[in-house]
Amino acid sequence: MSGKLIVKKFGGSSVANVERLRRVALRIVETAKGGNHVVVVVSAMGDTTDELIELSKKITKNPPEREMDMLMSTGEQISSSLLSMTINEMGTRAISFTGSQVGIMTDGFHTRAKVLKIETKRIKKEIAGGKIVIIAGFQGMNKAREITTLGRGGSDLSAVALAVALGADVCEIYTDVEGIYTADPRVVNNAKKLKYITFDEMLELAARGAQVMQTRAVEVAKKFNLPLHVRSSFSKKEGTIIMKKTPYIEEPVVRGVTLTESEAKVTIGSVPDKPGIAAKIFTELAKKNINVDMIVQNVSHKKTTDISFTTLKSTLPKAIKTAKEIAKKIKAGIISFDNDIAKVSVVGVGMKSHSGVAAKCFSILAKGKINIDMISTSEISISCTVKKEAGKKALKILHKELKLNKVKS
Ligand code: ASP
Ligand code: MG
Repeated sequence: MSGKLIVKKFGGSSVANVERLRRVALRIVETAKGGNHVVVVVSAMGDTTDELIELSKKITKNPPEREMDMLMSTGEQISSSLLSMTINEMGTRAISFTGSQVGIMTDGFHTRAKVLKIETKRIKKEIAGGKIVIIAGFQGMNKAREITTLGRGGSDLSAVALAVALGADVCEIYTDVEGIYTADPRVVNNAKKLKYITFDEMLELAARGAQVMQTRAVEVAKKFNLPLHVRSSFSKKEGTIIMKKTPYIEEPVVRGVTLTESEAKVTIGSVPDKPGIAAKIFTELAKKNINVDMIVQNVSHKKTTDISFTTLKSTLPKAIKTAKEIAKKIKAGIISFDNDIAKVSVVGVGMKSHSGVAAKCFSILAKGKINIDMISTSEISISCTVKKEAGKKALKILHKELKLNKVKS
């Protein structure tokens, strides 16, 4: 008996139908029979959450957020109860719970609540009694005993938070891909699966378009130094371990590249070039909850300048409206926008100790005759926006020329 406490999280595609529920159940039972205690977190089946949101839209454009949480949390209640039934049917004891039943306490922000603490008593009692505990992901309860949800993709966060609270030995995130790749394998066919990646790189990749894990979940794992094993529910292969430091003595300079087409660019023209203006613009945008990613301010001519920023396409209408209001207040010129942009990013902790990575990336793009529009960098990443049509080509050529298919893994 190895006697480990293992938290396993299964994403929506892994439990999308009865056949997949059985496959997942078998895998859970196998781990339990190996002498381990197993706590399972599940997402809603397939696209259930999207479907529930669509349903609400047929009724109202402005549903009360409390009611959205009541609605969306039902998806995970379905999958967790069905999974528990499946395991029981196989002759192994399991019990399902909602987030509130097992004391996942959150703050009061409906649809994007933060986890404050988890009362683990009930879970521990059931584990001690020999049961597999199945918990509905993505949800908790606030002080007023209202159901809350943790933001899209929040089951990852439920799993990580539970693993931390329970002091689990292992936290496995099961999904429909085999792990984290050097690039999206659907776009770059020789992308390589990574054996290890650091928390920081994963956060950077996730923020720049990689869609494997919820960013907040990785942040919490990083904070508590909880290694995560991202792997496929359809195969037994080892996936990718996300951890603080990989076992390599020297890190590769670049670990991965990403592409996102989900952003748009907004430009405020003829902005007066004087102190406090940028602060005004971006404070106003932040107040309206508009997330800004890249920012570029041009050299000023005749005491005015252009300021461009990128934001998610989904917030573009709000961003334009807000930019127009700001322009009026600060006596700036016209607002323009560009929906047809793509952003490619190059990520790697090795960049901290290597210079010239940016120059190399720009040369690669130049060689591919790809024009760069905006540029931003962090300690471990470089991002460029390009025309949307050039996005995939940019990703492929960077992957190839940076020799990522040969990266250590
Ligand atoms: N079902 C929720 C969503 O689709 C939570 C999750 O899948 O992690 O966002
Ligand atoms: Mg989902």
